[in-house]
Amino acid sequence: MTKELNEKLIIQLLEKAIEINEFYFLYQPKVTKNNTIIGVETLIRWNNSILGNVAPSVFIPLAERYGLITKLTELAIEQTIRQCSQWSKKQINLNVAINVSTIDLSSEKTILHFYNTLNKFAVNPSQITLEITETAMIENREQCAAVLATMRALGVNLAVDDFGTGHASFIYLKYFPITEIKLDQLFIKNMLQSNFDKKLIRGMIMLSKEIGCKTVAEGVENYETAQILCEMDVDILQGYFFSKPTTAENIEKLIKKTEKENA
Ligand code: C2E
Ligand code: CA
Ligand code: CA
Repeated sequence: MTKELNEKLIIQLLEKAIEINEFYFLYQPKVTKNNTIIGVETLIRWNNSILGNVAPSVFIPLAERYGLITKLTELAIEQTIRQCSQWSKKQINLNVAINVSTIDLSSEKTILHFYNTLNKFAVNPSQITLEITETAMIENREQCAAVLATMRALGVNLAVDDFGTGHASFIYLKYFPITEIKLDQLFIKNMLQSNFDKKLIRGMIMLSKEIGCKTVAEGVENYETAQILCEMDVDILQGYFFSKPTTAENIEKLIKKTEKENA
């Protein structure tokens, strides 16, 4: 099948999948230097009856290109905020992160849906982090900046995702009230082999501190990498070393386990 045909098929199935909601969400812990799970990132999963499991790295860019992303973001918002409120009722206070793109920030309907869902589940905005993934261009920077300023004023945390690899990372820092910088996995995965990557990471952590942001290292796959990042004073670690993305139930088990380890 040609690439174009394949893409068309995925888009058709994606439209149908949105109608019948074929998606579910997993959570990956965000862990502090002293081994406390302080938050999770929500990650979408699509299991289609014809295609099987389709990776988000395949269907999210297509959804962005074909005007379907805001519908998926609304599903993620609903699910994440509902889960956050369920955890709060069990006295589990976690910050929950949702992936959004600048396309979502241009949609008034999506923004309204976000505020309404916070109200519906009585979740404090400070419990939410929006991880903003760069699309190639920020089409209406002023509108994005206004939306993000309002969200920040309400207490929502704002992260710039995949920092260091995108087209406009520094523009994000300059114009948006960013509170968290997520260093791209590309640097973290190479750091044990590459002194140069280590230097880049140290530099990005210093930059992040200088402008008052928290630094998150993602893609941490082993103890040695975690150790070096802690020595470099990174604030939060995320990666397979701690846990792969998993169910809400398993997150609760992991929290209990780490609490025991830390006692
Ligand atoms: P991301 O936001 O950078 O998310 C991190 C990705 O890295 C996730 O892949 C996660 O499973 C994976 N990962 C985490 N730790 C490790 C590790 O130690 N090693 C390795 N090799 N991988 C690790 P996933 O879930 O396949 O998502 C891929 C991308 O798709 C995400 O990258 C994000 O850009 C997008 N995405 C996922 N869920 C959503 C969503 O609900 N909405 C939107 N808009 N985008 C999403
Ligand atoms: Ca992310
Ligand atoms: Ca990322």
